[in-house]
Amino acid sequence: MTTPLIFERSIPGRRGYRYAASDVPPIAPVEVLPAEHVRTTTPAWPEVAEFDVVRHYTRLSQLNFSVDTHFYPLGSCTMKYNPKLNERVAAMPGFAWLHPLQPASQVQGMLELLHGLEQMLCAITGMQAFTLQPAAGAQGELTGLKIIRAYHQRRGQRRSTILIPDSAHGTNPASAALSGFSVVQLKSGPDGLIDLNELKARLNGEVAALMLTNPNTLGLFERQIKAITALAHEQDVLIYMDGANMNALLGICRPGDMGVDLLQLNLHKTFSTPHGGGGPGAGPVGVTQALEPFLPLPRVRKRGRQFAWHEQGKHSVGRVHGWFGNVGVLVRAYAYIRTLGREGLVRASETAIINANYLKARLRGVLPVPYDQHCMHEFVMTAKLLKAQGITAWDVAKRLLDYGFYAPTVFFPLIVEDALMIEPTETESKETLDQFAEALIRVVEEARQQPDTVKRAPRRMPVERLDEVKAAREPNLRWRPAEASCPTAPHG
Ligand SMILES: *Cc1c(COP(=O)(O)O)cnc(C)c1O
Repeated sequence: MTTPLIFERSIPGRRGYRYAASDVPPIAPVEVLPAEHVRTTTPAWPEVAEFDVVRHYTRLSQLNFSVDTHFYPLGSCTMKYNPKLNERVAAMPGFAWLHPLQPASQVQGMLELLHGLEQMLCAITGMQAFTLQPAAGAQGELTGLKIIRAYHQRRGQRRSTILIPDSAHGTNPASAALSGFSVVQLKSGPDGLIDLNELKARLNGEVAALMLTNPNTLGLFERQIKAITALAHEQDVLIYMDGANMNALLGICRPGDMGVDLLQLNLHKTFSTPHGGGGPGAGPVGVTQALEPFLPLPRVRKRGRQFAWHEQGKHSVGRVHGWFGNVGVLVRAYAYIRTLGREGLVRASETAIINANYLKARLRGVLPVPYDQHCMHEFVMTAKLLKAQGITAWDVAKRLLDYGFYAPTVFFPLIVEDALMIEPTETESKETLDQFAEALIRVVEEARQQPDTVKRAPRRMPVERLDEVKAAREPNLRWRPAEASCPTAPHG
């Protein structure tokens, strides 16, 4: 079975829709448009019926993995199932058909929602105020770093350094460097957490902020967090928390109470928006009272019973989005928080933690877990023992695809050799976790007994192992699978 291009399905004269005959005289384009902008040839669009289009794109979508079709244990990414209710709410015409240039008097409902979302995020994190503008986690980091710079500048200080633990997500040092800071790496202690002595040695008057992730990317909670923030604050060093891992903390503890000065949340991860593949996100930044004057503008304010855009503020770092943020993602987050409520959010985080610990307990005898403590929402294993057979974490991940599971994150965090990072999320059932554990056990057995099978994986996917750099730079959309395969059927 091959998948032709939509152009190859074209049959001259075939149509999806036909217009009714016009009852006014036709006007030639050249009569109303400048001649140089008028086509002289008809574009070679495919001529197809509606169902040709629907079947074509539905089939293409089935060549892929998604949260709606497969378990997706991609560590750090929080690929959880997103309730369809949020989609319905975001698509309600009263939200979806608004235009950002409409006057505030016409969009009171939306402003109320944004205002309410900001208040709920403050309640969840213990922060004083949020900007909802940043369109992704990494843009939230950038916004946070602008605020950090503005804060120190206003106090007449030019601080040039950001401290970042070696377990950090790659976007942290990238955002810091992009903002003109120099990055100093903090070496983690033997327990995978921040080493207080290392931190003390690195803190000085040049340091603008410590950028940390809690729980960190090993899935471990920074148990010394209060000591860490107190040490930093002694030297007026701000604490930026990468809050992308908030899925582990909802209703259990609050970064604001730990001494965090500012953080970004990844609403598309923790608060349920389908994401990945460059899809829309939202990375709101929350700050303490001392940093509120620096937030981007405009923000929604409540005046009496009316909601309005607040535009003025002489310390604001300015806009970070052309409009008000990815509002559709904000609506989904609002719907998600309201449907779960406080108790539901606590249950979600507790279940995410239990699921990760269950899976870790089932798998720790199969592949070692280097920092094997009670984990939060994710854990990291190493495939280094399979090196003797010439197998890497990459090969294990590819072979898991053949068993119907999306691959875990590999080779990250960098402090674990040949890492496999697994985040089951709260939305997966025990049955699914057991199936995944059994699949991983089989892959590791195969790696030991018939390593070639694993090295040549995947074998049952629409495409086999690709040169990934070449596939990204020179995509060959005409690629045909050598043998017939049924891409949607999971295999076991
Ligand atoms: C996903 C993630 C980011 C980046 O978020 P984007 O929305 O992809 O820009 C940053 N830090 C951590 C820990 C993450 O998991």
